[in-house]
Amino acid sequence: MTDIKNNIAVTKNRIKASCIKAGRQPGEIKLLLATKTVSANDILVALKEGETIIGENKVQELKEKFDALQPVAHQTHFIGHLQTNKIKEVIKYADCIQSVDRLELAEKLQRRLEFEDRTMDIFLQVNTSYEESKFGMLPDHAVELALQFSKLDRLHIKGLMTIGLFSAEISKVRKCFQLLKHIQTELLDAGIPATELSMGMSNDLETAIEEGSTMIRVGTAIFGKRPFPDSYYWNETKEPPDLNLGSSPAAQGLA
Ligand SMILES: *Cc1c(COP(=O)(O)O)cnc(C)c1O
Repeated sequence: MTDIKNNIAVTKNRIKASCIKAGRQPGEIKLLLATKTVSANDILVALKEGETIIGENKVQELKEKFDALQPVAHQTHFIGHLQTNKIKEVIKYADCIQSVDRLELAEKLQRRLEFEDRTMDIFLQVNTSYEESKFGMLPDHAVELALQFSKLDRLHIKGLMTIGLFSAEISKVRKCFQLLKHIQTELLDAGIPATELSMGMSNDLETAIEEGSTMIRVGTAIFGKRPFPDSYYWNETKEPPDLNLGSSPAAQGLA
């Protein structure tokens, strides 16, 4: 069985060690639990340990787990690819959308939020690795798009998000994070308060923290290996098995 409590402690120690190396304070780094495929019960274990932010990739999963997670206060971020036909639903459940990556999506979000007379915190997702399989705006377009998004008054730009290159060559991964940081500096210079840098995952959080991350998104290192590949979440080609994540452990056959 996955020892979620212990894994959180190990992750916190990794954060601390990277902060010492980078001359930063651990309090500067938020930990987002990347909870795709994780059952509500396992998420509750982490929330009861004092964690406060979860991130989901699919609106369906957000919805399935939402009620079961209500007993423990937390923030929900949407970190997956967002189709415009899911906007109405996602804003019901999410406190922040980290994956805003195109003008059409931003404009449709704005329209729906106007209709509901609400606002939404957003991050701009940037494809810093230039991999075709990854979502996100191209780095070259980020400043221009951010300026366009900033005219949409229902969207509050809070930061930038990226998925670093999957590579054993740390220098290449590091370049992705440096690029995001560079874009952040340009946005701040342009008066856009994108103060959060959401970068770093289980395999590369140390590098991300060294390069200025303010929020790491950790799944595997806390909840263990996922039952199916991330390609389902990142390019929409495969359908997953039905995991029934909102129900009791017994119903899932996990008890
Ligand atoms: C799954 C996922 C993560 C976490 O990945 P791990 O390698 O399991 O830590 C972070 N960010 C996004 C956008 C994800 O989809």
